[in-house]
Amino acid sequence: MANEYASTTVERDPFARGEYRRFTIPNGDGRESCDWCGQSPRRLYSYVWENDGSWKRVVPDRHRFCNADCRRSYRE
Ligand SMILES: [Zn+2]
Repeated sequence: MANEYASTTVERDPFARGEYRRFTIPNGDGRESCDWCGQSPRRLYSYVWENDGSWKRVVPDRHRFCNADCRRSYRE
């Protein structure tokens, strides 16, 4: 399986000067599960924070969630 997941920008925060990118992780076999609620949907998402500016800094997040709500709940 290739490691090229489609990424989408999901949240922009002009004050933090960056954005979240969402990577789709196919989960057809149900082997992966959400780090927050433990469900195993057919698609999981990984969120990566990316700073704006000439010095692009990407902060990888190895956690996987079924949606942005689970990600938020996990952080809070
Ligand atoms: Zn979840």
